[in-house]
Amino acid sequence: MLKVFKFGGASVKDAEGVRNVLKVLKTTGDSDKLVVISAMGKTTNALEIVVRDYLNQASFANSLQIVKNYHELILDELFEYKQHPVFLKIYQLFEELENFLKHNKSLKYDFVYDQIVSFGELVSTTIVSEYLQDQELKNTWLDARKLIKTNSTYRDAHVNWEKTQAIIQTEVETNKLNITQGFIGSDPNNFTTTLGREGSDYSAAIIAYCLNAESLTIWKDVQGVLNADPRYFTKTELLQQISYEEAIELAFYGASVIHPKTLQPLQRKEIPLFVRSFIELDKEGTAVSKGQKIVPNIPCFIVKKEQVLISLSSRDFSFMVEENISEIFKLFHKYQMKVDLIQNSAISFRVCVDNKFNHLEKLLQHLKARFKVDFKTGVSLYTIRHFDEAAINELEKDKRVLLKQLTQNTVQLVTEN
Ligand code: ASP
Ligand code: MG
Repeated sequence: MLKVFKFGGASVKDAEGVRNVLKVLKTTGDSDKLVVISAMGKTTNALEIVVRDYLNQASFANSLQIVKNYHELILDELFEYKQHPVFLKIYQLFEELENFLKHNKSLKYDFVYDQIVSFGELVSTTIVSEYLQDQELKNTWLDARKLIKTNSTYRDAHVNWEKTQAIIQTEVETNKLNITQGFIGSDPNNFTTTLGREGSDYSAAIIAYCLNAESLTIWKDVQGVLNADPRYFTKTELLQQISYEEAIELAFYGASVIHPKTLQPLQRKEIPLFVRSFIELDKEGTAVSKGQKIVPNIPCFIVKKEQVLISLSSRDFSFMVEENISEIFKLFHKYQMKVDLIQNSAISFRVCVDNKFNHLEKLLQHLKARFKVDFKTGVSLYTIRHFDEAAINELEKDKRVLLKQLTQNTVQLVTEN
């Protein structure tokens, strides 16, 4: 039965990373697989700069050259024989990109973005596929734009599941080794679309769903899903087993290991997800599947920095009731403020929000017309799932807590910094 693998940008950021993909495939068996690969390293960011320069009608020659040089370096390291057909293939891909830049008339950012940025994945998969071939690992390169059909919401395309499933089931030979791109698809007019930043996990889940795969493995530069983000916490532990629900909860509160959209298609068909280290191949990592809630059963810590705490009360001391609250939520929606936490009493209403789209000023202006408003920017929101007293104490000991909320499984704290 087919297994789906996904390698992210960090796993193919240099020649050594590409060689490691070969090693992983040799260790785990090289047939009955479909391998989804992202753009190499930070290529997507670099291509975003090309988009910016191009649309600003500035010269994009430099920003594009950076992308070319980066891949050339990797190619030179992987292929000693300079006549190897991969060089021509990559040259042609960049030529195709330049042709688009030359002939395109659209000034629509989202559309132009997808047509340009998608080359990161096309180039990376071509290099990996050719390298594997060169090392005698026969494989089929598949164009994900032919496999994943979407609507035309560029940069956040929605999958047409029926079409996608039909195509994938006829096009993919599941007994072979297949290589394809994450992140990209195409719309009804065959223009390239993308599924949103970090969308390769989601691509892998879509394909796993359509092929009723045995499992999906996401290979990462960490051991698996940890109980805390090592950037903010000194002590972290590996979660060996979590349920789909637990993974969705962790992602909801801001844990960044698994792209949240990835879980739903997997859960629908109960396809297990493994998150494993591409370095320590003998370690099992984390299994996400049905059943068993969480092993080991330890507190999980999630932090979101740079949040805003807003306190509202009525000007005339009247109660904060449904009418006011629904009005407030309409404004949050209008200004794209993601609400992390809500606490209300008779005359006040407090929320912690994520000012991701920088609309705070406008929102506050609007709110001030109706309510007494207090706010504090730069606060942190800590969430502990499966908390115990010790976990809360540990977190509270060196912080000023502005708001605290407990439910059965989860405690949330808004702190000053
Ligand atoms: N290359 C894309 C990005 O960096 C997709 C992905 O890596 O998942 O957002
Ligand atoms: Mg990436």
